[in-house]
Order: sequence, then C-alpha cells, then structure tokens
Amino acid sequence: MVRIGLAMLQGARHEHIEALQGAAAELSVDLEVVELRRGDQVDATLDALVLPGGESTAMRKASESEALLPALYAWMDEHESRPVLGTCAGAILLSAPDGERTPYIAAPIARNAWGRQRQSFEAEVEVDLIVPEAGITTNHVADPDRFNHRPLPVGPNASPVRASGYPGVFIRAPRFETDTVECEVIATLEHETVGVLDGCRLALTFHPELTLDRRFHRWLIANAVRTHPDEP
Ligand code: GLN
Repeated sequence: MVRIGLAMLQGARHEHIEALQGAAAELSVDLEVVELRRGDQVDATLDALVLPGGESTAMRKASESEALLPALYAWMDEHESRPVLGTCAGAILLSAPDGERTPYIAAPIARNAWGRQRQSFEAEVEVDLIVPEAGITTNHVADPDRFNHRPLPVGPNASPVRASGYPGVFIRAPRFETDTVECEVIATLEHETVGVLDGCRLALTFHPELTLDRRFHRWLIANAVRTHPDEP
C-alpha cells in the first residue's frame, strides 16, 4: 500500500484524485490518497506528494492559516528521494518557494507568461520520460466523481513506455525560462521546455490530471512504490 499526499490548497484537486486512482488501477497498486489540508497531516508515512494547479498566490494565502505549505516544504527537505509531482501552479511552488528556501527544481519559472486566461490552449507536447506501461486500461473515469467532475477525455487511456505526443492542457500557464533550466527536460512544446525532472521532482506547466493519459501519475506511483520504506 502506498500513500500519496495531495495538497488540497486550491484549484484542480479532485481531478488529481481521479487520475491517481486510475493510474493505480493501471499499475495494480494499492493506493491511498491522503487529502492534506493542515500542516500537521504531512508526515513521514507519505510516500509521495502532489502539488496541484490553481492560482499560486491564492494557494500561498490558503496555506497560511493551517501552515500547510511550510509543512510540505519541510517534508521535501526531509525526504529528498521521495517523488513529488507539481503541475502548473504546483510547478511555481516548486520553482519559487517563499522566503529563504532554495528552489526545489533548478528551473526558473515566470507566472502567467503565455498571457491572460483566454490565451489558454491545448497542444501536443513531446514527452521523454521513462514511465511504466499500464498493465490494464481502466474505465475508472467513466463516471463523474462526487463533485460531478469528469476529467476531459483528451488523451487515450494507456500509453506505451517513452511514448511522446501528450495532450497538453495549458491554463493560464507559467513558462519555464528555457535558457536557464539546469535540470532534465522531459517535456517540450516546439522546443520550449514545459516539463522538467530534478531528482525525484517532476514539474509540468500543463495539467495532466485533465486527460485520460495517466502517464505522469503512473510515474509518481511507480516511484512511490520504489522508495516506499520496507516493512520491518
Ligand atoms: N496562473 C496561475 C498562477 O500563476 C497558474 C495557473 C494554473 O495552475 N493553471 O498561479
């Protein structure tokens, strides 16, 4: 059983729950998604973290009363080899943590750099990341969740290892400063960097939880399984 913590800060959270459960089913992994709302819920039993998209300023504010964000950063400091997935605003929180903390990914980022909300778009992204293949395809997302959310059926259910051609959904997205990225580039859009991997931290400027291609969530779960401490 792996436990993945999802920061319930603001923004696209429920789609990540769907995507994680779908990906866990594709890998036949027993998964618990832990919805994190307070700093004191972030503990050593978590095998991985998801920092979802949303509005990063609102997320920083939302975190203040329950000290969630500092607890997430402290967890990352303490568990450097455990995997983290940051999407869109989540990528901003990894690249530009507040205060004295050094960035969690060596990839400077500029907020809202594609323009305004109406300049949001979908485009095919080239991906180069080793991801375990889906053992089975799932219909997990066929039904709306209890919030009546249903992820956009943009991509296919399953994808082969190292396949590229990912349906990228960019919503008022940030942009990595491509020339100054100092970690591994794993996703590009016309030569521009849109996804990076720094150690075990994966940051994307698009929204993988809004498609049925669960590749990035499978990556997270597979790495959570790999780094899961052995039972005594
Ligand atoms: N525009 C948001 C920000 O700057 C990010 C958008 C998103 O997560 N979809 O925080």
